[in-house]
Amino acid sequence: MVSWQAQQQQTNLESNLDVLSVLVNRQRAWVEIDLTALAGNVSAIKSFLAPQTRLMAVVKADAYGHGAVTVARTALAHGADCLAIATLAEGVELRQAGINAPILILGAINAVEDIKAVAVWSLEPTICNIDQALVFNRTLATVGKSLKVHLKLDTGMSRLGTNWQQAVSFAQSVNTLSQLKIASIYSHFSTADELDPSIMNLQHQRFNYALTQLKNVGIVPPQIHLANSAATLSDRSCHYDLVRVGLAIYGLYPATHLQQTIPLKPVLQVKAKITQVKTIPPGEGVSYGRKFVTHQETKVAVVGIGYADGIPRNLSNQLKAIVRGQLVSQIGSITMDQLMLDITNMNDIEPGEIVTLIGQQNNLKITAEDWADKLNTISWEILCGFKHRLPRIFN
Ligand SMILES: *Cc1c(COP(=O)(O)O)cnc(C)c1O
Repeated sequence: MVSWQAQQQQTNLESNLDVLSVLVNRQRAWVEIDLTALAGNVSAIKSFLAPQTRLMAVVKADAYGHGAVTVARTALAHGADCLAIATLAEGVELRQAGINAPILILGAINAVEDIKAVAVWSLEPTICNIDQALVFNRTLATVGKSLKVHLKLDTGMSRLGTNWQQAVSFAQSVNTLSQLKIASIYSHFSTADELDPSIMNLQHQRFNYALTQLKNVGIVPPQIHLANSAATLSDRSCHYDLVRVGLAIYGLYPATHLQQTIPLKPVLQVKAKITQVKTIPPGEGVSYGRKFVTHQETKVAVVGIGYADGIPRNLSNQLKAIVRGQLVSQIGSITMDQLMLDITNMNDIEPGEIVTLIGQQNNLKITAEDWADKLNTISWEILCGFKHRLPRIFN
């Protein structure tokens, strides 16, 4: 007789397979990741850099919603030299997938248990101040490990790091700690995507001042880095030994004025299927709160994607979608799992038809930037907003 446990195991296996086939089947709504575009963007950025400049692919937040492990592997295969993530768990995920490139943790790690895990997984932490460095050193000594660390200077972002004016005492103190080896000194811009470069230049000057002071006391870090995507594209003097590029590898420009720099192609598309088509009379409300009322007989397509998937509800009545190469308007409030499109001018649309919410088809293109503009936010936030309920399908 088959044991209860064995039966349970069998059932689990079957349901796992079911789930898997649903993911592959593009059942309802999904995110498509164009790995060829990603590879092209990484190569384009890499060839924009001087030959000795290294490229760090920033794959935090599940690679801006694109899927960290696959993106990291693809980026490393096409010119990226190393990776950056924000949290310990994000680093562990990459290591568990067998990725052994250098991985910088951009966020701050403080707890003793977390420090031990950083060492176990050979991740490279950001050290923000001397107190944190001391905790790292003490903890690493107890487990007999040492780590390459990256010192963060605050040059005007007022986020992580030691004030640029204290760079020398900070680096000198870290140099006395037996378990820590300085791998780099870095800082981060607050306005690199803006047209006016004055604040960026000020930060750059402060960073250079700190580097000169360090040099004067004999501290020359193995690597210096400063640039995010915007600074990488806008100012070569910010490149130093390495650039930390996120948004641009995903094919988006940090600002309109940087679009003339290198050719990039958006990597991510969001698609969903039409689940029902109906015709409703004039004067009928559509969706919760009747925020849209028809003026005429209207053909409505119900689509299986909603705000629980990361379609911002604030885009209700403003969203566009591409259906069979034609731009159509979304109508009424976006609901948790579904939204409605006005397809009055279209014929022969049936359930199962695929709708593009972000992406390109023929000459039409809807970008994360279009959404960001309407919502008065930035494309970074849109990309990170797609939930895990949407399977990532890699092409
Ligand atoms: C997220 C991040 C980056 C990448 O920024 P992009 O604008 O997406 O290129 C670089 N450096 C730090 C410190 C970051 O937090």
